[in-house]
Amino acid sequence: MNFVLHGVAVSAGITIGHAHLVSSARLEAAHYEIPEASIQAEIFRFDAAIARAKQELAALEGQIPDDAPGEFAAFINLHRMILEDSSLSQAPRELIRERRTNAEWALVQQMEKLVAQFEEMEDPYLRERRQDIEQVVERVLKALAGAQGKSEPLPSAEHNLIVVAHDLSPADMILFKRHKFGGFVTDVGGVTSHTAIVARSLNIPALVGLHHARHMIRENDLLIVDGLQGVLVVDPDPVVLGEYRLRQTQHGLERQKLKRLKSTPSATLDGTPVELFANIELPQDIGEVQESGAQGVGLFRTEFLFMNRKVLPGEDEQFEAYRTVAKAMEGRPVVIRTLDLGADKAIAEGGPVEMPNPALGLRAIRYCLAEPQLFLAQLRAILRASTAGKIKILLPMLAHAHEIDQSLSMVKQAKQQLEDKGIAYDKSIEVGGMIEVPAAALALPMFMRRLDFLSIGTNDLIQYTLAIDRTDDAVAHLYDPLHPAVLHLIAHTIQAANRGGTPVAVCGEMAGEPGLTRLLLGFGLRNFSMHAQQLLAIKERVLRTNLAEAQPLAQRVLRQSDPAKTRELLVKLNS
Ligand code: PEP
Ligand code: MG
Repeated sequence: MNFVLHGVAVSAGITIGHAHLVSSARLEAAHYEIPEASIQAEIFRFDAAIARAKQELAALEGQIPDDAPGEFAAFINLHRMILEDSSLSQAPRELIRERRTNAEWALVQQMEKLVAQFEEMEDPYLRERRQDIEQVVERVLKALAGAQGKSEPLPSAEHNLIVVAHDLSPADMILFKRHKFGGFVTDVGGVTSHTAIVARSLNIPALVGLHHARHMIRENDLLIVDGLQGVLVVDPDPVVLGEYRLRQTQHGLERQKLKRLKSTPSATLDGTPVELFANIELPQDIGEVQESGAQGVGLFRTEFLFMNRKVLPGEDEQFEAYRTVAKAMEGRPVVIRTLDLGADKAIAEGGPVEMPNPALGLRAIRYCLAEPQLFLAQLRAILRASTAGKIKILLPMLAHAHEIDQSLSMVKQAKQQLEDKGIAYDKSIEVGGMIEVPAAALALPMFMRRLDFLSIGTNDLIQYTLAIDRTDDAVAHLYDPLHPAVLHLIAHTIQAANRGGTPVAVCGEMAGEPGLTRLLLGFGLRNFSMHAQQLLAIKERVLRTNLAEAQPLAQRVLRQSDPAKTRELLVKLNS
């Protein structure tokens, strides 16, 4: 059946491919009672699903490419064993019979029991096997839902697949960096959630906030993800498909053309230089940064090094990661942000514990100051790496003078610890702060007096100014970068910093939005940091900007209190 869903585009481009459902078994299994007379049929349905899951695994085994890693075969084998074990293939039959419950629910109940047993285990390897049980159960659930026995994606075919999920965490997304999926769509999520930010860095079209996609789409459905308009077309007819194939080619050609700008110096029409930096999550992102011709790394979100692992990276491992990036950038600046854990950036083990309101809780610098040993280890790792290039330290989510003072004294302490051991570091390393809490933007002199540079985190600044959870699609329509209060805080920060001679950058998502480049230039911004994928489109915008025209129009936008007029002026600014 052909239909269209509307969501929020978080990563541009068009992709056409087949749906690959990623599910969370607990969340999605339906629960209903079955009549006595249907028990046998329900058991039969369950057995058939188990048999189908077995066939799929066997087929998958037969398709393993010669060059696939050894663990691939071992993993399939383990799943076959789990599937054959009576605790999964027999016990749910009893539940169906005794409790007259549907097969899905019986299976998930049994899964919960097994997972709880695994969680009790001492051995960390065995404890982790709970994930395999969940994956096997998801496979059987898919078979119960009538999916067409499709085998798992093999790496070579991944680019034709579009991941469809109810939700994905930033940690899930970072795992996708190892894959080459064609796109992804989710039911929930906000446009500047970290999930969306990582999606953007993958350079694959992505939509969030589709609400019912996971339930309405079946495995293998043909999908068009239009990351330009925020539209998902399911099972398109041939005319629509043809039209989108054309648009996809055009978009590809435009991106190809942008590559020619890689070594063009970034400056406005009157020759004013504008620095363009890249944001990264992991050292492996550096290849794309080099490809984009970025002048440096403006934001290294180091908390992503801490995700998807049981044992957190220690000082030496962090040192290697920071040094790799500094070396690769060959003397160009690398701004390393200290840990910004908390809110939607959770980690499996350690890290901030559950809080009533995580975005307002012990997050980022607050957490680091509460965990001085963790913070000191990171600071030492950064300092040690600072001899390999031009590293700067950036402190997230500052609001109070004492947070800055305490952090600076920790930097001093870390330096002293290295000196005591005779370890070298860059003695003139700069320390800057993120302006992402409205209080910080309003109390700027307090920051400028203490810090070497500022970086405006528009994602959080908008979230905290408008009291909008940036990860919550239910309020996504209220997340407005053009709200006069937001624009005032941004313009005021840029102008005050420029007047006081403190370097200032924007490293939130607004920096990578071509429709806002001229406005920010007009406010006086000369340093933008964004994902490498967005950099050349921003450069193109900079190259075509006449500052003498942009400045007065940007000031008019600031004076405007009518949102409709603001948008009109923005259209004029961009024309
Ligand atoms: C921001 O808040 O704008 C920012 C750059 O930090 P993050 O998105 O990692 O919270
Ligand atoms: Mg932030």
